Amino acid sequence: MHPPIEDVSINSKGAILIGSEFAADGPCSERTLFVSHAHSDHIGGLRRRGGSRETLCTPATYDLACHTLGYRPSGVRTVGYSKPVAYGEEILTLYPATHILGSAQALVETRFGSVAYTGDFKQPGTPILGADVLIMEATYGAPIYRREVGDAEVALVETVEKHLHDGPICIYGYTSKVQEALAILRGFIDAEFLLDSACDKVAKIYLKHGFKLPKYNLLDQEKAEGRSVVFKSLSKARERFQGTKILLTGWAPSLVTRVEGGYMIRLSDHADYNQLLNYVEEAKPKVVYTDGWRSSYAKVLAKEIENRLGIKAHPLPR
Ligand SMILES: [Zn+2]
Repeated sequence: MHPPIEDVSINSKGAILIGSEFAADGPCSERTLFVSHAHSDHIGGLRRRGGSRETLCTPATYDLACHTLGYRPSGVRTVGYSKPVAYGEEILTLYPATHILGSAQALVETRFGSVAYTGDFKQPGTPILGADVLIMEATYGAPIYRREVGDAEVALVETVEKHLHDGPICIYGYTSKVQEALAILRGFIDAEFLLDSACDKVAKIYLKHGFKLPKYNLLDQEKAEGRSVVFKSLSKARERFQGTKILLTGWAPSLVTRVEGGYMIRLSDHADYNQLLNYVEEAKPKVVYTDGWRSSYAKVLAKEIENRLGIKAHPLPR
């Protein structure tokens, strides 16, 4: 007998088990794996492959994951958005998620109903997947994580423009956030862009997959002068820099915060609390599961969904 489609669970390694064929974002040797995107807490299935089943992800996710892992895992089948893939009687289709390059949501359709898994996402830009069962991220799933209205992209452009008059600027951020910031400045800031080699390697993957970035040069200390914007990994943020520093962060109470040597700008890749609830409201699932393997707020979010929207919701693991 087929288990009810509403019975979603998570294994001891963080893989979310969907239907009877698929597992998402963690190792599971008996099922076909889906990797939603290349952040390190989602690529466990690529890191520790086992069994004979394939691993599915977008081509860009595969390239970014290979960069993180330092090798190219085998047994991976890259799949584009909106291209259904059938296993047994179940069909999996990937849809875009606005998060990092290559991020995907998955919709699994079976004879018994459908299951959507968001992976990590932000709004606007992520299409809402309607399904009987919705599995969603919960990074900012608590009511304290409500962003005030404000445009991070405008704040970044304005801060850079204002301080370029004082000399060079250095922007520090995690992988992908730096490339996103570089893309935001494209067309708005007339300056020389300089990337350190770590940022350059990832930027090349972005360019390979059609992401639009402005022309940039490799960082050479002597060139970081005048109207130039330097991009470096967040791990370098404590170093001395002769100019204004901008630290990119996922969460901060304000859009722009003054810090020693410059500013911290909130450039989030995740939906906030209100946007998570809006997704559920529009998707109209019968039941929701929140990912507690990768977030501390899954229980809180599940309770909020039940109380505010009247839809059954459970954290994973339960
Ligand atoms: Zn992520």
